[in-house]
Amino acid sequence: MSTELLFRENAYLKTATARVVAVHERGIELDRTIFYPQGGGQIGDTGTLSRAGGERIQITNTLKGDAIDSVVHVPVLGLPQFEPGETLTLEIDWERRYRLMRLHTALHVMSCVVVAPVTGGNIAPDKARLDFDIDMSLLDAVKIEQETNALIARGIETETVWFTDDELDARPELIKTMSVQPPRGAGRVRLLKIPGIDLQPCGGTHVKNIAEIGGIRVLRIRSEGKRNKRVEIALAV
Ligand SMILES: [Zn+2]
Repeated sequence: MSTELLFRENAYLKTATARVVAVHERGIELDRTIFYPQGGGQIGDTGTLSRAGGERIQITNTLKGDAIDSVVHVPVLGLPQFEPGETLTLEIDWERRYRLMRLHTALHVMSCVVVAPVTGGNIAPDKARLDFDIDMSLLDAVKIEQETNALIARGIETETVWFTDDELDARPELIKTMSVQPPRGAGRVRLLKIPGIDLQPCGGTHVKNIAEIGGIRVLRIRSEGKRNKRVEIALAV
């Protein structure tokens, strides 16, 4: 069954309570969660689930389940015995998640500086990257860093907007990432809007204001193949 995705409406929730829905070989499913499941290039959240008696279960990864919007919390050691419907207190590793949110949003800003089809991407707590289908000679690390940081300094508020599948079909130019098609089937698609900078389908977690990114550094640029020129970045602070 599907999980209510609390991070979609508020990416800043650090704790919440939820009930156990199912426990199986892949992990623990809850009726709602603040844990972001790995997807769209962003790695899954880590944190803890606490039982009423105080027992804490370390969650080492979060993955998508079989059903649409279902989430599986992967525990560090074997599966505990839960009572169905048991209430747990959820806590994500916030410092790690916030870095992911800042880096993720930074990639949206950078995709406005490097104007080329995106062929891949990944976001980890310490660094993030986008792969572009572009000629290497057009990628200048200093220029990318300066222009991205100049946009970040504008301190623009981000917005979440929803399109119907038909509305998105009418705007194919919004899909920059060739390797990741936006999820279909739910009838509507979530987009991140940074007014004046970027609008694209994305189910990930973002900061409210791009000023929170603080600035980026370009770590390196290298070729990963004919259509994959990789730009790797880290947070400046
Ligand atoms: Zn995003």
